[in-house]
Amino acid sequence: MNAADLALQRSFPAVMVPRREPVAPMQVFGERLLIAANGVFLEVNQPWLSLVRRIASYAVPTAIPYGDVAESTRLVCEHFPASLVGDFACMAREASPNETGAWIVWNRETEQFRLAPVTILSHSGAALRYEPPTLGANEVRVVDCHSHGLHPAFFSNTDDADDRHEIKFSLVIGNCLSATPGMALRLCAKGIFETVERVPAAWYAAVKAALATIVTEAA
Ligand SMILES: [Zn+2]
Repeated sequence: MNAADLALQRSFPAVMVPRREPVAPMQVFGERLLIAANGVFLEVNQPWLSLVRRIASYAVPTAIPYGDVAESTRLVCEHFPASLVGDFACMAREASPNETGAWIVWNRETEQFRLAPVTILSHSGAALRYEPPTLGANEVRVVDCHSHGLHPAFFSNTDDADDRHEIKFSLVIGNCLSATPGMALRLCAKGIFETVERVPAAWYAAVKAALATIVTEAA
């Protein structure tokens, strides 16, 4: 086969799921397609996240002589510090009414998180153009944060387009001047969007605490 297709297929292989034993784990970070009796699944293997989701079912009840696959989620990075969400809420308030952005990155060697602001090229109350932050060799992005200035927190059509090809949590903070800004959170995995119905209460508490500090400093 030609070199270009070979490279593409190596970067995203398809695996026939065996019936009598578990499918062999992925040996590298990346994605693959699992062809199973109960559908076609996307498997994502990142330093911080392992995920399996069904992305297609068979239109015809034909016999597929493969095994079944179950959806799964494994978050490798643990002990996420809610205070970083509070720090981002402060950034968002300072930038408001303009939008701003930052990544929460995880160092897989030290297992520490940090907030890494993006480099803003241009921002307004409705749009943000930026360059990603520079990450260390062992750092990976876990949460992509952006703010909506004075507008509510929700995922816009632009956000959907921006997030479609990525693997990350996406966090939007809206109504940034409010004492309790709104938040919307979802998991993005190569076109799969899973909204987290309840943003953790600890995140709201951290935002409130961080913003109270700003008010105190200003007073
Ligand atoms: Zn947005």
